[in-house]
Amino acid sequence: MQTSVDMEKITALCKRRGFIFQSSEIYGGLASAWDYGPLGVELKRNVKNAWWKSVVHSRDDMVGLDTSILMHPMVWKASGHTDNFSDQVVDCKKCKKRFRPDQIGGKCPSCGGKEFTEARAFNLMLKTHLGAMEDSSSVAYLRPETAQGIFVNFPNVLDTTHRRLPFGIAQIGKSFRNEITPGNFTFRTREFEQMEIEYFTPPKDAEQCYQQWINERFQWYLDLGIRQENLRRREHAKDELAHYAAGCTDIEYQFPFGWSELEGIANRTDYDLKQHAKFSGKDLEYRDNITNEKFYPYIIEPSGGCDRATLAFLADAYHEEEVPAAAADKEAKTRVVLKFSKQLAPVKVAILPLLKKNDGIVALAKKIKQDLQKDLVCVYDDTAAIGKLYRRQDEIGTFYCVTVDVQSLEDKQVTVRDRDTMKQERIPVDNLKKYLMERLSN
Ligand code: ATP
Repeated sequence: MQTSVDMEKITALCKRRGFIFQSSEIYGGLASAWDYGPLGVELKRNVKNAWWKSVVHSRDDMVGLDTSILMHPMVWKASGHTDNFSDQVVDCKKCKKRFRPDQIGGKCPSCGGKEFTEARAFNLMLKTHLGAMEDSSSVAYLRPETAQGIFVNFPNVLDTTHRRLPFGIAQIGKSFRNEITPGNFTFRTREFEQMEIEYFTPPKDAEQCYQQWINERFQWYLDLGIRQENLRRREHAKDELAHYAAGCTDIEYQFPFGWSELEGIANRTDYDLKQHAKFSGKDLEYRDNITNEKFYPYIIEPSGGCDRATLAFLADAYHEEEVPAAAADKEAKTRVVLKFSKQLAPVKVAILPLLKKNDGIVALAKKIKQDLQKDLVCVYDDTAAIGKLYRRQDEIGTFYCVTVDVQSLEDKQVTVRDRDTMKQERIPVDNLKKYLMERLSN
């Protein structure tokens, strides 16, 4: 039975079990910066691998790229970020705190003050200086999106891969925005990771391509376990669109704090390549070597956040269940279980010795782990009684627990417990790997 999930429970679990810690915690933390712990790094990596597999390795029309965070300042001139990538801000005249105008509702959320400065634009790019000179000639920006690294490499990818349209380029990487109001845990931070695709298509096919990507990306979240009722599309109204965009649709997730954007899919027309051609003076048109046509492709951009996706998968996986005392091993009536999909579960199998003082049991359990960990992410835990060990594994979403007991030494069988059903089965040690691999492979 699902009880309502709130952010406090998720953040507490993330900290308690080592998914996500606050950055620089021993110094009081740095607002809006987070560190992924031992389990979080596995989960986030699984999210990225699932994305890469889906959008690069399983397709014929995609390649990958990994471009640098620092780019030539002209990139941001051409893209419009230097002049336009800003939010409106106002300052409270009493406490001097800064807000977006849509957040104040007549009075300062911090001190209740009612007087504010005029609204003005605040550029969200994080600025730094390269090299030893700190003057205007050395200014550089930490990229606010990974997309521009793809656009400027369009001719390199064309030249080296001899691709014909339509094709796309995918990239995963860090981006930075000096958000005025970061918050909601890892949902909005100043440093975050994006998973972006730029898909190049002849203009006449752009609309169809745009619709296809919306469907594909929506389905990806469902395939990885997000419940249908928590996912929706939101098409932008005409007046919400950037001046160059022909369409934009967000995929939204119902977070405990409300429906919020996970990913945006935009039809960016031929704006980006034309801008870079104009500012660089380079010919960035595509020439079809069969038809000899020369033109600027349209670009469809599915742009998602890795941290936001990871948070959505965590929130959706979180379950509290009432269980009969016996099934909860006489210790608890409510069990917390993260019902991750098999691709995303950070740990697939836990190997648990029933008696840690029995050398035979421990040796067999360790031998089983040695064998399994060549192909599956496993843990070994003997630091508590079995009921507690099961609950620990449920709480991190481990798919199977393998328990080695005294009888195992005689009959060469172990108990395999399923996370979701809590059903237990005796399996011969010799068949164990095959049994688990069959159930855990995609
Ligand atoms: P928002 O409206 O929430 O600020 P956005 O529309 O500006 O997001 P995009 O520029 O479309 O976001 O960026 C693409 C994706 O990058 C977003 O869908 C989101 O998943 C992720 N993203 C953007 N900004 C942040 C942030 N500050 N923290 C975490 N993820 C972010």
